Amino acid sequence: MYKNIFIAIGFALVGCQGNSQKKEIVQETTEKKETKFSVVKTEAEWQKELTPEEFYVLRKAATENPFTSELLENKKEGTYVCAACGTELFKSNTKFKSGTGWPSFYEEIEGNVAYDVDYKIGYKRTEEHCATCGGHLGHVFEDGPEPTGLRHCINGVALDFVPAE
Ligand code: FE
Repeated sequence: MYKNIFIAIGFALVGCQGNSQKKEIVQETTEKKETKFSVVKTEAEWQKELTPEEFYVLRKAATENPFTSELLENKKEGTYVCAACGTELFKSNTKFKSGTGWPSFYEEIEGNVAYDVDYKIGYKRTEEHCATCGGHLGHVFEDGPEPTGLRHCINGVALDFVPAE
């Protein structure tokens, strides 16, 4: 009788340990993802706040059709900010005409843009997103003008323009 209870407790302890270890690992991975960005919202919240176009580009990494952004030809002085969270991403003096049909910049505002690797269309590209909310912005290529040689190819719908005072 006692022996059986001990065996049962023994199994229970082993069982708990196994479970708690598993939980810890799961928690660590979700925590890492969750703490990656300082602005975190649920998909439903984003969907409510953003226009359908903004939602598909920023949250689903879609690409807007080229030559459709009203910011493409914008030459005003100011700052391009994240359309989802307002983080300053690009300055107007780093914008250049790339001919691709997407707003292009040779430099980001340092620290406000984060990068990832993307194999979506079969080859390696550097994806870029807002470092604050994780919203997808576009891709960066190494065929831009001086002084950086980089071309940040950005979906205009992911940006809002704030004119300089
Ligand atoms: Fe953002």
